[in-house]
Amino acid sequence: MLRTFFSVLAMSVAVVAFAGKDATVKSANGDIAVTVSEDNGVISYSVTNKGVTFIEKSALGLVMDYADCSKGLSLGEVTYSQKSEEYYVPTIKQRKANYNANCMNVEVKGNFKKSVRGKEVEEEVVLFNLEWSVSNTDVAFRYNIQRPNSDQLLAARVLEEKTEFVIATGSTTFLCPQMIPMTGFAGTAPSYETGYTPDEEMGKNGWGDGYVFPCLFRNADKGWLLISETGTNGSYCGCHMKNVNCNKYAIAFPNDRECNGNGKPEPGVTLPYATPWRTITLGETLKPIAETTVAWDLVKPVYEASQEYKYGRGSWSWIIGMDPSCNYDEQKRYVDFSAEMGYESLLIDALWDVQIGRDRIKEIVDYANSKGVGIFLWYNSNGYWNHAPQSPRLCMDRSLVRRAEMKWLHEIGVRGLKIDFFGGDKQLSMQLYEDILADANDFGLEIIFHGCTLPRGWERMYPNFVAAEAVRASENLHFGQYDCDIEAFCATIHPFVRNSVGSMDFGGSTLNKYWSADNKRGNVRRTTDAFALATAVLFQSPVQHFAMAPNNLTDAPAEAIEYMKRVNTVWDEVRFIDGYPGKYVVLARRAGDKWTIVGINAEKENKKVNVDLSGFNLGDNVTVYCDDVKTGALVKKSLKVKKNIAKLEMVCGGGFVIE
Ligand code: CA
Repeated sequence: MLRTFFSVLAMSVAVVAFAGKDATVKSANGDIAVTVSEDNGVISYSVTNKGVTFIEKSALGLVMDYADCSKGLSLGEVTYSQKSEEYYVPTIKQRKANYNANCMNVEVKGNFKKSVRGKEVEEEVVLFNLEWSVSNTDVAFRYNIQRPNSDQLLAARVLEEKTEFVIATGSTTFLCPQMIPMTGFAGTAPSYETGYTPDEEMGKNGWGDGYVFPCLFRNADKGWLLISETGTNGSYCGCHMKNVNCNKYAIAFPNDRECNGNGKPEPGVTLPYATPWRTITLGETLKPIAETTVAWDLVKPVYEASQEYKYGRGSWSWIIGMDPSCNYDEQKRYVDFSAEMGYESLLIDALWDVQIGRDRIKEIVDYANSKGVGIFLWYNSNGYWNHAPQSPRLCMDRSLVRRAEMKWLHEIGVRGLKIDFFGGDKQLSMQLYEDILADANDFGLEIIFHGCTLPRGWERMYPNFVAAEAVRASENLHFGQYDCDIEAFCATIHPFVRNSVGSMDFGGSTLNKYWSADNKRGNVRRTTDAFALATAVLFQSPVQHFAMAPNNLTDAPAEAIEYMKRVNTVWDEVRFIDGYPGKYVVLARRAGDKWTIVGINAEKENKKVNVDLSGFNLGDNVTVYCDDVKTGALVKKSLKVKKNIAKLEMVCGGGFVIE
């Protein structure tokens, strides 16, 4: 195994007890407590932080095809243990992560009917174990479904998950509605590309089909919680949250109409089977949520990296020039632009197969590689699951054609693929994601998914997985003025929601004033150049294709280009400083021993912040890229720091970078 994915794991000796009516596990610092209890045959759990309720009593259980495992239940043996692990994943917000958790395994028993010599008999068996893992900031749990009849059952279908999240009364929501299947462009929904309503009251159900993970709630003035799931692979479906009523939410399986109606929403499993983890990150502030590594703490690499993958910055013509720009001359011009910026890659988007051709794409790859620029090529994932027509298509949907294509891509020296237009969250689609990643690793290719689901621990599970879109990303800034008008608003939400649990391929940081190739017409950018610089750091993905264009070398401020030539995309650590989703955010990232602190503002008024620099080892004189508070123009200056406090002011849609 390569050193970058190395991990040290320690499990302590287990302590066994019997539950009776309830069982409790607390975090090491004693703040978080999870209590599992049984009432009238129903198992439930609740979560508190420093004695304050975050999750009220919420039911647990499964409906399997062989038994209803949600009622008539009792608690059995309870086992306590501790887990401590240090591991490395170069593609997430924190390259070296430490996970320390108190664990509790609770047996859940119920009656199981089976046939013995032609007679039906009922016996009490362990139907599933509830596995809990509680760190100082995160609660995680999963069902470990047991084989109730060792003579017969090997396979089963999970018909329903009864897992509930009853959010503390008075909480408000920051949720992203699940899209209605087969809507959107050419039937490509759902693809996690809706917007947020901040501080919305509980009790709604999105557009009728609930909300995608992760789900952020504000527990009134008592704190915050982020609910998500991780460890999902081809053996299960991707889940989301539906509102049952008022403050009660529950796990939902995919909509039957997803993937053009192909495949079942309910996953099929082999027994015994451990489900994906459900995670709850919580605390009094947003700090645990911005800094959590829970999405990766509970998963393991499922294969070894076939090579040491390279990450970094890149350019991308399509986001400004759209389809016509995917031609030979323009892509060579962008190779030169990436090389001039010192960037590691170039992404060539849809239609390259017809507008450039397979022979001449090899010429561009050779030309780029000779300049130290790696090439990412776009592919359509479909397939029979939607109507997206862009080519190349029918190259990634089946293993035979995919492996032949990837062999050729490897031979001509392509670095990675951006694969678009997936079909939803059914087990069928999850298998496709996993199969693409596994095949690509055999041919040394990095993978970025677009028009896709949320990655659920995939940076650690699949070492060649780079990032996913699963967000209303930069393309919408090109498509509509409204998205430009709310660009800063959305950007202040992502660090606490989507980007908190997975690398996010946003493709932003444009320095054009207009979203068009001539930079004279089209949608107007409402954000400042300092905002563009700040979001290059704020948005985390190990590979970033910025929405910059060759014209920016002459029409953007020299200081902006100078910074974007140096910007980093791989980080050792993240630290939350200040912020509120929908309003503003100030956050620090560390690469090696160097901290970069960035802020952005979405509020209508100018925002003044006093950034406490103690603990960031930046000295008394820092370099600042910020807004001119009257014009919004980019200013680069040296700032003298008094008593470790840097005083900064951001305009609406503005930002800053401190080095
Ligand atoms: Ca998209």
